[in-house]
Amino acid sequence: MKLIIVVPCYNEEAVLAETTSQLSHVIATLKEQHSIDSGIILYVDDGSRDRTWELIERFSAEHDCVAGLKLAHNVGHQQALWAGLEWASAHADAAVSIDADLQDDVNAIYPMVDYYNKGIDIVYGVRKERKTDTFFKKNTALAFYRLMHGLGGEIVYNHADFRLMSRRTLQALVSFPERNLFLRGMVSSLGYPSAMVYYNRKERFAGESKYPLKKMISFALDGITSFSVRPLRYITYLGLFFILVAIFAIVYGLCSYAGGTTIPGWTSLLVSLWFIGGAILLACGIIGEYVGKIYKEVKRRPRYFVERVTPSLHSDLPA
Ligand code: UDP
Ligand code: MG
Repeated sequence: MKLIIVVPCYNEEAVLAETTSQLSHVIATLKEQHSIDSGIILYVDDGSRDRTWELIERFSAEHDCVAGLKLAHNVGHQQALWAGLEWASAHADAAVSIDADLQDDVNAIYPMVDYYNKGIDIVYGVRKERKTDTFFKKNTALAFYRLMHGLGGEIVYNHADFRLMSRRTLQALVSFPERNLFLRGMVSSLGYPSAMVYYNRKERFAGESKYPLKKMISFALDGITSFSVRPLRYITYLGLFFILVAIFAIVYGLCSYAGGTTIPGWTSLLVSLWFIGGAILLACGIIGEYVGKIYKEVKRRPRYFVERVTPSLHSDLPA
């Protein structure tokens, strides 16, 4: 069986040497154990501005098992991963996706391959605990998983994009036409036999996170709006609720007027004005998120452009 390990990289010059040495060790060991026949590390350079591509070229010249794909510009983690998985779907029996920063334990790849050899199609890498994450990241992540489940999105708890996928799963995945990618949701919606492998998530080996708060929020919003239209339904409920409150207020106002008192009301007026104004804007914003998604989908733009590949991609990979 041929295994491709897909590693998206954006400005990862600080970690690449270590990542290459650890992953090539994993591949060598898997080969020794006869768990795989051949293995390749496929780096996808997501338009890095540092020496990432230079290093990828160098490592691919030094090691038989390293190959690289350079995207013409930065398209983001999910799209870069897609580029690698699309390649793998045509050239591998199974692919493992892993981040470049070694936060995910490379040793978890062994049990993943074991599961694959037992006939399992998808093996999720799941974090046992989040000791190394900040209090903030841990709790926002938990809130996000809860929210996704509440909204009907099937995603695996504490699973990021560290997983093994069989060839047929990869082919099913790349047949998804959507441009808004939320891979962990898409993969779990496939429904092929799956298993989980637990591991401890480590600190980033070197370099810094490419997911600052702003990107995290937009990733979460993308995830929700790609997988659930329930927020739209909730807006309708909220609108109905406001109308009920308004009817109640009208009846109450008329009754008091008939009883001879006019309700004094600067505060109540202003508060409800701001509140309802805010609610309307929020509703418009939520609808706008979906409209924006539709806009992006109908344009059907190509997901990425490949600028260059390492020579090893042509010679080592039988089509
Ligand atoms: N990444 C990418 N393109 C981007 C941002 C990130 O390919 O625009 C890669 C990055 O190199 C890493 C992975 O996505 O391999 C996850 O990023 P990071 O480790 O910064 O995220 P975190 O672990 O902090 O959530
Ligand atoms: Mg990371």
